[in-house]
Amino acid sequence: MSQALAPGGVHVRAPGKLNLFFEVGGVQEDGYHDVASAYQAVSLFEDVWATHSDEFSVSISGTVEVSGVPADDRNLAVRAARLLAQRIGYSGGVHLDIVKHVPVAGGMGGGSADAAAALVACDALWGADLGGAELHKLAARLGADVPFALMGGTAIGTGRGDQLNPALAKGRFDWVVLPSDDGLSTPEVYAHLDELRGRPDIVAAPSVPEVAPAVLHALRAGDPVALAEHTSNDLQIAALSLRPELRDALELGEGSGALAGLVSGSGPTLAFLTADPESALELQITLSAAGFEALHVHGPVAGARVVGA
Ligand code: ATP
Repeated sequence: MSQALAPGGVHVRAPGKLNLFFEVGGVQEDGYHDVASAYQAVSLFEDVWATHSDEFSVSISGTVEVSGVPADDRNLAVRAARLLAQRIGYSGGVHLDIVKHVPVAGGMGGGSADAAAALVACDALWGADLGGAELHKLAARLGADVPFALMGGTAIGTGRGDQLNPALAKGRFDWVVLPSDDGLSTPEVYAHLDELRGRPDIVAAPSVPEVAPAVLHALRAGDPVALAEHTSNDLQIAALSLRPELRDALELGEGSGALAGLVSGSGPTLAFLTADPESALELQITLSAAGFEALHVHGPVAGARVVGA
């Protein structure tokens, strides 16, 4: 990353995530679904530079299509900065320069990573030094996936997905990710799942969503083969129903050496778990030759961290 850092600026990097397991329960009174998720932070990062300014502003660029990302107060990173300023009584502003590598509206939590990065960057820039627990509280107010982008690693999320506990995970997991330029709206995918679950042939919502114990065992053992047997995502049926063409790509990946393939979060990004880095490279080559943009990433990686100041 060659971006120059203005004097006094802070550079933070925050990871995108994959959901290795995602069970969606019923809608709660607050309108949110109760979920149980196993998250893994992966080596596809957002870079955020924060520099002093009297106002709040943001500029956005990146290696992914960024035209759908709001460059005003609706931007989740700006909302994060404003929330922190309010919390500490800071009367100035900040300029945020976001360089995105996580596909937008792709189910990999890119906006949440930007928000987590903005919290960490402004905390350092403004000398607030709030500490992890306080930042986590602010993160949870910004969105269900923001606390995990702060924390990183591998974790189990319950409630809205924001009540996090680190999962004991050994070793490294290699994934091939197929992004898609045309994102899916997370609320739309949830709404479609609710609709589908009204049909007699579709499994109803679990009363208490729970991460399968076999997933935890596989993570603890650092065993991708065992993990592949138990990965699943309740939102997949809805994402595939909205984007039927993803089925062909899933089948191609699964038939080309992946241990498992799944829709990441609310999609449309697809993630293929592989046995090791060499298998991931082979699968990446196969999928690229078939015309897909295929990225080799690995997890777990750390959450939002200052990398330069
Ligand atoms: P999740 O998996 O957390 O539901 P996602 O990865 O599917 O999210 P995001 O890339 O986080 O999706 O963005 C979802 C929507 O949020 C975008 O369509 C965009 O309009 C809005 N948004 C607000 N701020 C940002 C940001 N900093 N980066 C990306 N999108 C943002």
